[in-house]
Amino acid sequence: MLKENLNQVCENIKKACERTGRKTEEVTLIAVSKTKPISMLEEAYMAGSRDFGENKVQEIMDKYLQLPPDTRWHMIGHLQRNKVKYIIDKVTLIHSVDSLRLAEEISRQAEKKQVHADILVEVNIAKEESKFGTSREESIQLVKNISKLPNISVKGLMTIAPFVTNPEDNRKYFRQIRELSVDIAKENIDNVTMSILSMGMTGDYMVAIEEGATMVRVGTGIFGERNTQGD
Ligand SMILES: *Cc1c(COP(=O)(O)O)cnc(C)c1O
Repeated sequence: MLKENLNQVCENIKKACERTGRKTEEVTLIAVSKTKPISMLEEAYMAGSRDFGENKVQEIMDKYLQLPPDTRWHMIGHLQRNKVKYIIDKVTLIHSVDSLRLAEEISRQAEKKQVHADILVEVNIAKEESKFGTSREESIQLVKNISKLPNISVKGLMTIAPFVTNPEDNRKYFRQIRELSVDIAKENIDNVTMSILSMGMTGDYMVAIEEGATMVRVGTGIFGERNTQGD
């Protein structure tokens, strides 16, 4: 079941890449395993998944020792500053940085643990009240400010598009994020690349890929519905 879901998602990614002349290797599938038991993560790992997305610090701490060490953990949820220290040496990429104060804490903890933190700046592209993320206008200044901090590098942008029933409705937002990343790349800021665009979830990842996503975050499409609220 899970394996078939995963194969289907991979097949869809391949097709979306083909439609737009992109290489499949350009797109990383992040299996969003939040709320799911370790047995399901193991099943996904056995089927080939190496990148897992979680949105709670506690869940990363519980799960990361239980999967093989070549597993890559992605922090995709809102991160509180006082919890950075618990995951800084466990995660491959923090997708959800939306303030300088959070970036400063990540930098400080990375220095302390002598690691280097790769991060994405989260942009609230549709200006939804309910969502975290910096505005499009503020994002360039935020990237510039973060670029001056030690032990942290901005690798690109992340967005959570609105919940829609027709994924085409989000195409414009994906396009705007991509344009924003091109604008930021043109600034040639030291220690900053715009090589990653983390956008697209179960409902809209194919459209996101057509618009340039390099990381898609798929939960329900792989693991099935979640029965817990608040995520
Ligand atoms: C839960 C979550 C996802 C995955 O959502 P699905 O619709 O289940 O694919 C992706 N990104 C973030 C930030 C999430 O919190």
